[in-house]
Amino acid sequence: MKIKMVIDTEKFSIKPQGGIIGTIVGRMTLDKVKEYSIEELKQSILDGRTNRPSNCGKGEESWLSQQIFMIDIDNEGNLTNDIILGDYIKLSENKKTKIRFLVGSEQHKTYNNIIKHCENIGLVPNFIYTSFNHKEEQHKFRLVFILDKEVTDIKIAKKIQLYIMNTIGDVDEQCKNLNRPYFAGKEIVFDSGNILNSDNIIELSNSINVDVKINKTTINKSKSEESRKRVLYNNGITNTPILYSTPKLDTPESDNNYTIKAIANRDREYLKNKYGKNNKIIFENKHLFLDYIRKEINLGELLEFNYPKSIRCIFHEDHNNSASIFQADDGAWIYKCHSASCGVTYNIIGVIERLAGFKSRPNTYKFIKEIFNLEIGETEWQKIQKEILQENIDILYGDIEFEENCPQTNKNINRVKHYLDRLINIAMKNTYNEELTDDNGQVVFFASGDYICKEMGISINSLNKVYQKLAVFAYHKLLKKLSDDEVPERLKKRAQAIMINHNKDNPTDNNKIRHINFFSIPSYNVNNFDEIEQRAEQWKDNHYTMKGVSREMFYRAEGLEMANEIYPQYKKVTETIDGKKHVIDRTTTEKSDERTNNIISAIFDLIGEYGYATEKRIVQKLKYNYNYATTEIQIKKSLKEILDGYNLQRIRAKKQIKEQYGITIKGYPFLIVKND
Ligand SMILES: [Zn+2]
Repeated sequence: MKIKMVIDTEKFSIKPQGGIIGTIVGRMTLDKVKEYSIEELKQSILDGRTNRPSNCGKGEESWLSQQIFMIDIDNEGNLTNDIILGDYIKLSENKKTKIRFLVGSEQHKTYNNIIKHCENIGLVPNFIYTSFNHKEEQHKFRLVFILDKEVTDIKIAKKIQLYIMNTIGDVDEQCKNLNRPYFAGKEIVFDSGNILNSDNIIELSNSINVDVKINKTTINKSKSEESRKRVLYNNGITNTPILYSTPKLDTPESDNNYTIKAIANRDREYLKNKYGKNNKIIFENKHLFLDYIRKEINLGELLEFNYPKSIRCIFHEDHNNSASIFQADDGAWIYKCHSASCGVTYNIIGVIERLAGFKSRPNTYKFIKEIFNLEIGETEWQKIQKEILQENIDILYGDIEFEENCPQTNKNINRVKHYLDRLINIAMKNTYNEELTDDNGQVVFFASGDYICKEMGISINSLNKVYQKLAVFAYHKLLKKLSDDEVPERLKKRAQAIMINHNKDNPTDNNKIRHINFFSIPSYNVNNFDEIEQRAEQWKDNHYTMKGVSREMFYRAEGLEMANEIYPQYKKVTETIDGKKHVIDRTTTEKSDERTNNIISAIFDLIGEYGYATEKRIVQKLKYNYNYATTEIQIKKSLKEILDGYNLQRIRAKKQIKEQYGITIKGYPFLIVKND
């Protein structure tokens, strides 16, 4: 399949800024339209070349046809009165009215969230790529939808664009213009090859009540509730997107039903009277509160449906019982609509939020607490713990205090700091009213591997990477990992009971994912800045790198005690000797020792030949023994041990040193040489 579009000639590896954008757009004129295959489009994106997916020049009036539709998800929004800024909802830099939703906020959408949503509603993009400014803590990506034939009517094309935007939700409003060029990005993260049937999508998008006028402005400023819910696009297209349609109430199931109306009208008195007459239930923390409302409140009963398994959807004009309410595997009640044009999936929070039209999650929670007579009760102890943890985050991101007192630490952890931030946030959400502290009076909290990943919004496959970062923080004394014998038995049981619920969502037998980690977090303050910074210096002196982080790296450089401090869970290992099992201290494996020994011989061979060794040459020399990455990581793990043990040093090959060794290659690599 060949598709008409414009692909720019220049390649970029970062997002083009300022005047360059004008130059790019200036080049992308109508006469540059050519036919490309999908593979060519994908390659151009990976090459860094900007594209305009339509048969169109600079201005929308030159639009001729279109077969590809793209939308952006950037996890940004406008600051409105009901948005509460916090750890996961932050102001954009240099912009007073723009906000960023970070992983951890309810509003943040990862590409996996969106893919799932697309699959649920049967509107699957051909591929998705991350944009240049995509970050792990704030996903930014672009969905690329491809039709089986081109659309030649601009009104239909606009409707399709708006339909996709409204159905996927929360998209960058700039996408509505059909002449819009799209910058390239970093990575193709989803590739289904799916081609949409254009007749289908034209029919679906027709249901949108859109009066398409190009370059003409109509502004509707009525303040009634109904028009407030309308979405006004700034090129003058007013439409009522499907996602915000008013619930249809005259279905048979809802005849005698006032609860839906009461929620939509935010009729607190009526609802409190009906559902909140019980004794107040007080939850120890937010996590337990959420668990309760999702699982214990029967959504079908609440919405007063007699046959909740098959109902007319309350979120779209439904003539065929498209929706159903059921309990998911983890016990949470789910409202799901199977209609292609609506297709929502909500738990109780989503249902109430959508019905009542709350614009921020905290307001939804407040409403739910009020009508069901629930409370998240925190003891003085919990409040203090939270304050300590919040203070830690403030210190990490605050003024120059941390940077001034712990400059090397700041340098070492700067690129991974947000993992610590996220972990502290997990700790805050999971403080319990029992006074849980370690020997030093520091807050203890626990979390399973999969819960940590879920909360951080990253894939369970990246668990090892997360643990690596946690080891870095543990080394810097910003975090302490507790070994099993440091945790009281009653706490272990408690943790298991609580974490078991999380694991229900994620049926797996992998012990590592289910393993419950116990951490304690000290209060970062002037009295421990010194010991934190001392570790940071030690890190530098030992030539540690993020990539080499492993129990072995610490063991080889600093011995068993340090390795046990950073990896307390691996202190002991069971080995079978003469058919009997023995529990012994974990040291290094024979294979690993062999690799280190080979590296040492390679270094001395190279020094004999050239007077110095470089990492590159060592890797080269051992290429028949191990693959590149294996040697590279082994060097990082054992470098300190090798340097100390064989009276070697690692120096930067500056100009004078390059001359001394007759080095002609470009740059300033590290050399391993003999100590003088
Ligand atoms: Zn529906």
